[in-house]
Amino acid sequence: MKNVGFAHNRWRLKRVGIVALVSFAPILLGLPLAIWASRNALEVSSSGQNQEIIMRIDAILDSTEQAMSSAAELLGGECNQVVSELRRRSAAATFVFAMQLLDGMNVYCSTVSGSAVPAQPERSFVDGELGLFISRIVAPGKSMVGVRVASGQRSVVSYIDVLHVSQLLGLGESSDESVLSIGSVWLDSRGEIHEGEFTSLPIGFVTTNSGRYPYSIKTGFATDAAWAYLWSRFWPLLALIVCLGVVGGYGAYRFLTQARSFRAELQRGLRNGELVAYYQPLTSGDAKSWAGVEVLVRWQHPLEGMIPPDVFIPFMERTELIVPMTTYLLGCVADELAPVADKLPKPFHVGINISAAHLVDSRFYDYCRRFLVRLSPSGVSLFLELTEREEIVATDEILERLRQFREIGVHLALDDFGVGYCNLKYLMEFQMDVLKIDRAFVSGVPTNKSARHILDSIVDLADRLKLDTVAEGIETQSEVDYLKTKGINLLQGYFFAQPVQIQDLLVALADPPPSVEKSSRI
Ligand code: C2E
Ligand code: CA
Ligand code: CA
Repeated sequence: MKNVGFAHNRWRLKRVGIVALVSFAPILLGLPLAIWASRNALEVSSSGQNQEIIMRIDAILDSTEQAMSSAAELLGGECNQVVSELRRRSAAATFVFAMQLLDGMNVYCSTVSGSAVPAQPERSFVDGELGLFISRIVAPGKSMVGVRVASGQRSVVSYIDVLHVSQLLGLGESSDESVLSIGSVWLDSRGEIHEGEFTSLPIGFVTTNSGRYPYSIKTGFATDAAWAYLWSRFWPLLALIVCLGVVGGYGAYRFLTQARSFRAELQRGLRNGELVAYYQPLTSGDAKSWAGVEVLVRWQHPLEGMIPPDVFIPFMERTELIVPMTTYLLGCVADELAPVADKLPKPFHVGINISAAHLVDSRFYDYCRRFLVRLSPSGVSLFLELTEREEIVATDEILERLRQFREIGVHLALDDFGVGYCNLKYLMEFQMDVLKIDRAFVSGVPTNKSARHILDSIVDLADRLKLDTVAEGIETQSEVDYLKTKGINLLQGYFFAQPVQIQDLLVALADPPPSVEKSSRI
């Protein structure tokens, strides 16, 4: 029963595991899906935003370039002659706050007085066309976008207040962030210019280049913003995932804890082949050689582990399940022994436990007949071990069935002899072949005088009734030594071997029984 308790705890743990798994499965599967979907949605949003910003910035640059193309005709003229016209054109251009005329890198004319903006403009313009600058004149510290249109050695440069651009960068979702990147300098939505590469935002980050000017717009979302977005857009999906987890977990819990009737569970076990045959070897009366086996059933329950027969046999005996179970077991034994029959000692005694119900079931009789047809040619004989958990009434039907059994060569053994309440009556009413002397009289034998007297009397009784004897439950050498002197036909007990499955039985039978003296075992 220790095994059953251990298996039960293991099953409980498994059950908690299964319920947790089913509860979290929708979250484990659904959450990555929602995150993936929201990442995609954010990328689409970033990309759309980039297109929108580029369209507007391109429009600003187009209009500025137009104004500068018309100013290009002023290149070459003396500054004092063209500066007023340059100022007029600069003022007329919507986004321009200053315009300059350059000869090479030298600013020779400007709409604003003071030194050039910047000192070496050529070097700061990406592709000689576009740059981000911090003004050192007019409004020191002010950030500007510089646009340059060249005509040979000379060029016109316009400066646009970055506010026109930075306000566009802040147009999108409040949770995202867009920057304008020109070369290795970038501008944020607050109008601040930064040196170096813009470190990408982790979620939905997209870079889009303007097709017309050498700049790009980069938009992405911070992690917090992404979770907020996920929740705001996908909360129905998240709520569904949580509901599925709760419903699934509850369903799994109900399914796993649903009390199945013991009968239904046994039927299922029988159908699934979970009931298996174990064989406990028996030795000859002198304990020198193997002589047969007793078949003992075990239930290898998938969750509870190994269940011993006294947990379920009494229940099966109270229902109609016991007969199908024994016929199934007999079939398994035949299937397992037939292929190895030539390796078995001859004659080979096979005992199987039955109850009253088997004696009134014609199918069981048929199975026994088939068993012997298959195995008796190999020296196998079948012994039905009758226990008396339920009283067996000697009806005409039962007596006739016992006669039929004898006719086909099936032997009858009275199990647990000595501990039952009507053993002696059975001996009178049914024609038995074997007495199985119960463990109760065997275990005390070397030391207990009364046990010895009872055992001696049973052996004497069997002798007078011409019955064979089997002593069961032998656990010690001194028990073996005593029983060997009694002329008992077969010996059985843990001293010789435990019940084992067919593979281990064949291994056990390959060696002599353990009590055989070492010298004679070789
Ligand atoms: P049983 O027919 O008296 O079987 C002998 C029981 O004693 C077996 O227990 C066996 O493992 C155990 N045994 C054998 N040698 C020793 C020993 O030296 N010391 C001790 N302490 N025990 C020993 P198991 O297999 O647990 O079976 C218990 C009972 O369940 C059996 O008693 C039998 O009445 C019933 N049973 C087992 N298999 C079947 C079956 O296929 N059909 C039916 N109807 N009953 C079965
Ligand atoms: Ca038995
Ligand atoms: Ca017994």
